[in-house]
Amino acid sequence: MTRFIDAHVHPPVREFLDGPVAPYLDGLRHFLDVEIEARSADELADFYRSRDAKAVLLGWNARTASGYRSLGNREIKALVEVAPDVFYGFGAVEPNGGAGAVAAIHQAARLGLSGLSFHPAAEGVAPSERDGRQLWDTAAEHGLVVLVHTGFTRLGAGSAGGGGVSLEPARPIHVDRLAAAYPSMRIILSHTGQLWLDEAVAISMHKRNVHLCLSGISPKAMSSELLDLIRGPLHDRVHFGSDYPFGNPDAWLAEWDSLGLPDEVTRAVLVDNVSALLAG
Ligand SMILES: [Zn+2]
Repeated sequence: MTRFIDAHVHPPVREFLDGPVAPYLDGLRHFLDVEIEARSADELADFYRSRDAKAVLLGWNARTASGYRSLGNREIKALVEVAPDVFYGFGAVEPNGGAGAVAAIHQAARLGLSGLSFHPAAEGVAPSERDGRQLWDTAAEHGLVVLVHTGFTRLGAGSAGGGGVSLEPARPIHVDRLAAAYPSMRIILSHTGQLWLDEAVAISMHKRNVHLCLSGISPKAMSSELLDLIRGPLHDRVHFGSDYPFGNPDAWLAEWDSLGLPDEVTRAVLVDNVSALLAG
């Protein structure tokens, strides 16, 4: 039986570490105090398989803002194919990429990917500012899950000017109009908005198609109010993600267990909610 689904994994393959996050890696290692080492797709699959777990692998495309290469749809698909019993894949498209972005969304669907991952802070574009409706119409047409990194980012954190990265596009409120315009679109607010937790909670309380991914917030740091929401009104729309390799799933799960929550809450957060979300 699956013990957990890690819904937020950045595959630490060479193409990713030497590609889009390369300029931030030294800072991330310093800021996070975690090991960030390259792994092959097989090693990553074994990591999760040995834990009776599955993982959602996320693409990355911030080419316009950063000038660095992406981890695109085809690369994510290739990783998933290494271990389709373990991996789900979310693609990534160029923000404000016009016709190219629309074509890339069709491609993600054709490849059988489950969703698309957006990182507004890295991309420098808020969801509400993206090119016209065509991009979102296309994602909705294919029923792709839309995952949006919200709140604080550790990219550039602690450096002068935050490495040129602005947090403002990652405010959860920029997802609100999108969620309102596409009620059938399944949307994930990753990292629960962090310092903008209230915004993320307000949107997910208001709109049933919005889900919260608990990646980026450690269980011991969760307020009693957030835990009440997880047990109560949001019980079927919150799920676990580790942000691996920038977060450690084992450490998160050990902390979670120490909270002593009822088994049905743990099962919902670790497996059932994201399983239902991915199944549509
Ligand atoms: Zn992430």
